[in-house]
Amino acid sequence: MRLTTPAFVLRQVRWSDSSLILTLYSLDLGRTSAMAKGALRPGSSFAGQLELFSLVEVGLSRREGRELDTITSASAMEHNQALRSDPLAFGHACLFGEWVLGLMYGNEPSQPVFHLIARTLAGLCVLPDRWAVTCAGVESLVRLAGMGIELRRCTLCGRETGDSARFSARSGGVVCEACGTDVREVPKGVIEYLRKVREGGLEAACRIRLWKGGHRQCHDLLRAFVEAQLQNRLRLRSLDILEDLENDAG
Ligand SMILES: [Zn+2]
Repeated sequence: MRLTTPAFVLRQVRWSDSSLILTLYSLDLGRTSAMAKGALRPGSSFAGQLELFSLVEVGLSRREGRELDTITSASAMEHNQALRSDPLAFGHACLFGEWVLGLMYGNEPSQPVFHLIARTLAGLCVLPDRWAVTCAGVESLVRLAGMGIELRRCTLCGRETGDSARFSARSGGVVCEACGTDVREVPKGVIEYLRKVREGGLEAACRIRLWKGGHRQCHDLLRAFVEAQLQNRLRLRSLDILEDLENDAG
């Protein structure tokens, strides 16, 4: 089978002196891995067309029973250059990419996921509050993965929780004052923030100011929730890099 589809490059691994293996999220095939033969050779037609986090119109050849597709053509549609020239933007793009790869592992194509990747990467290019963009992107992604976090009703008894700031990753969301012992207290602002992000998306996320470190607490809450639901750890190695960058920046 051969087809052409827009795809985001989410991971690049050097396979040989001249070839790359890419992990793509494409509009028509969802997540897929593909070999770009000769991509690193001087004068390759792939040169500059398959950069990390760019949007590319790729030609793919797929054979029954093979795990890897072969890239037959590539033409960059959106370079997202800002994500590769600013270390913090790059770190956030890497982190969001790891979330996508951690949650979207089948090859069921999803247009909403594709468009969410587009919005989030574009936001990281231009919006100054990168943590706000990342948190909004991850909140949407988690919902698209079928794991909506419960933010209003107690996950143990179903009552409205009001402004309770008790949370249980295992039961899937907020917990009222009367229920449960296996809960942790989280800052009220984090729950409130997530509610607003859910209603208003990226735009709302960028309007709301949080205290220093608040977005990181929000991110870590989403992570704890997802890991409890999947009963598995997410590999988010870019967090270490982001922490180093932020510490260096003071
Ligand atoms: Zn309850």
